[in-house]
Amino acid sequence: MRIGIDLGGTKVEAIALGDAGQELFRRRVPTPSRDYDGTLSAIANLVADIEEKLGRQGSVGIGTPGAISPRTGLIKNSNSVVLNGRPLDRDLTTRLGRPIRIDNDANCFALSEAVDGAAHDASVVFGVILGTGVGGGIVVDRRVITGRNRIAGEWGHNPLPWPRLDELPGPPCYCGKRGCIETFLSGPGMAHEFRNRTGRDLSAHDIVAAADAGDTVTLAMMETYEDRLARGLAHIINVVDPEVIVLGGGLSNIERLYRNVPPLIQRYVFSDGVATPVVRAIHGDSSGVRGAAWLWPA
Ligand SMILES: [Zn+2]
Repeated sequence: MRIGIDLGGTKVEAIALGDAGQELFRRRVPTPSRDYDGTLSAIANLVADIEEKLGRQGSVGIGTPGAISPRTGLIKNSNSVVLNGRPLDRDLTTRLGRPIRIDNDANCFALSEAVDGAAHDASVVFGVILGTGVGGGIVVDRRVITGRNRIAGEWGHNPLPWPRLDELPGPPCYCGKRGCIETFLSGPGMAHEFRNRTGRDLSAHDIVAAADAGDTVTLAMMETYEDRLARGLAHIINVVDPEVIVLGGGLSNIERLYRNVPPLIQRYVFSDGVATPVVRAIHGDSSGVRGAAWLWPA
């Protein structure tokens, strides 16, 4: 049995998967706010719950924002700031009395879709999260590529490729740079752009709905969004050339992306043709927690 934990900013979700990936049990609890020891206890209690209910022990994988720094052994880059600077993997190993595996939430998403999701028949997969933030993960033969600095796939903080003059220097990003892909392609980035163009506030969800209803301002915005996404993905294809690209996160529910982005990608990739499918995640919001469980492969 594999247990996966998705440690989010607002909830901690746990899942138990059987050998064939079938869901045996699932439970979520609110994330203790600004309380590191409380977070460790919440995870330990979820694991104890599952094992008591199912009557057996499982492997434990954790998906979390940020990553364990190979330099310090401590969590870095997490937007759940209470985790930053903490040895989360060592502390959980002690609490749970067994080795655990931990990886970035975008990597867990990509792994879930590569193992038994939308990319289950591909050996090289790029998974993208388009949500409150923008992240990515690379999976090869059902293994996450973490990289020398544990930063592989962190595509959201590359600059937007082939920028137009009105895209420079780009919006400021919390990482300290300007014009990161995340500032253009995240939900808040979309809302920010709408405010700049119209002086009005609308959520990403409502912007998409307005475009679908034929509103010309939001329609033009969606076309720009698709072109930017195509430019960003063209870089990935030029470097990694994955067999498939899987989209997840709230904005991956935008139907028109799947029609409009692949032909746009062709304009930017250094190739005589691009056959890379861009597909929607199958497991939706469950990809993160399922991928955490799959950090322990067969
Ligand atoms: Zn950034």
